[in-house]
Amino acid sequence: MINRRQWLRGLGLALGATAHTGTQAFATPTPQTNPQESSSPGRLALADYEPKSMLQVRETRVERARFPALDIHTHISLSVKSENGIELAPERKYLGQPAELLAVLDRKNVRTMVNLTGGFDNGLVEAVTKYDKAFPGRFFTFTEPSYSKFLEPNYPRLQAEAIGQAHRGGAKGLKILKTLGLYLRENITSGKLVKIDDPRFDPMWDTCGQLNMPVAIHVSDPIAFFTPTDRFNERYEELNNHPDWSFYDHEFPSNAELLEARNRVFARHPKTQFIVLHVGNFSENLANVSDNLDRFPNMTVDTAARVGELGRQPRTSRRFFDRYQDRILFGTDATPHGDEFPQQVFNDKLYEIYFRFFETDDEYFDYAPAKVPPQGRWRIYGIDLPESILHKVYSQNAARLLQVTI
Ligand SMILES: [Zn+2]
Repeated sequence: MINRRQWLRGLGLALGATAHTGTQAFATPTPQTNPQESSSPGRLALADYEPKSMLQVRETRVERARFPALDIHTHISLSVKSENGIELAPERKYLGQPAELLAVLDRKNVRTMVNLTGGFDNGLVEAVTKYDKAFPGRFFTFTEPSYSKFLEPNYPRLQAEAIGQAHRGGAKGLKILKTLGLYLRENITSGKLVKIDDPRFDPMWDTCGQLNMPVAIHVSDPIAFFTPTDRFNERYEELNNHPDWSFYDHEFPSNAELLEARNRVFARHPKTQFIVLHVGNFSENLANVSDNLDRFPNMTVDTAARVGELGRQPRTSRRFFDRYQDRILFGTDATPHGDEFPQQVFNDKLYEIYFRFFETDDEYFDYAPAKVPPQGRWRIYGIDLPESILHKVYSQNAARLLQVTI
């Protein structure tokens, strides 16, 4: 696989050569600069730029969550077979073993880890047995739709029944990946994209409501993924690292169309609880997320992989947490050994970043354990939540939805 540096060089994207403001910002030599680089301003590739902040401010280490926490959004298992973004096999591969996961959770005061991608059929049974049943209260597993059966004529009923079966087998909720809306097609991997509010899924949503199984739903992606990957894109490096994450300039629906289709599902299934992942999938626009929370009482959000977004707008975020303190769930998107995605790799450092953001008023710190901020070149600020809100966000809101005690 081509690495980021080769990719940037291949495109000739030494920043100074292309952007006027970049020339000014990046050509200034610092005492630490390699002399070779400083003597040729304008030739430093963006990928090689690793500025160190000279700001002297307080650094608070928060090693353990203030209250025992439940991480609503992790990925311990994945399907062994995916095609065009669609999980097709029930069998699971496991990214972390219980003992290594529990060691981190215990150090960080995280009581419970929710594995959203538990799959379906025999894969789900295995995941529940290996984690939830072996370590009661420490792991919960969600099921997923079996899109491989999508072409069967009675799919809507089969899928609803599969949810019932998963519930009896111990699944705590249903996870919807962005497969729905962005990958699933009429012939599963080919044909027209299937819409999020396609009526063939209505029995599935209703069954989740009847069984009190919350639906953790991921729809759309950061808004920058729907704009050109060019010098104006604030997530340029991330999109270069993962070109397949861009939904611009293909036959994909717009971000607004995806969210509208999602909202029609919420309106049509008021008795079903939806945990809208990644801060309602629009953390760049908390006014929009607030509007939707006001419109849909059956909607809650999690914080997964968006501490970088929340933390760069600390005052707006703090007001958001004050106002929706009963409807925000602590989640990280933690993935054991997911080193390719520093903003979601399951380790002590990742948890400490979230705790620092929630619990302190520290300024200008990294939102991911990485040399260069992986989602965009900015840093974050803590929002210093009071204990009453911390308790709700860390565990009580999720406990209520999952009907468990933490
Ligand atoms: Zn996730």
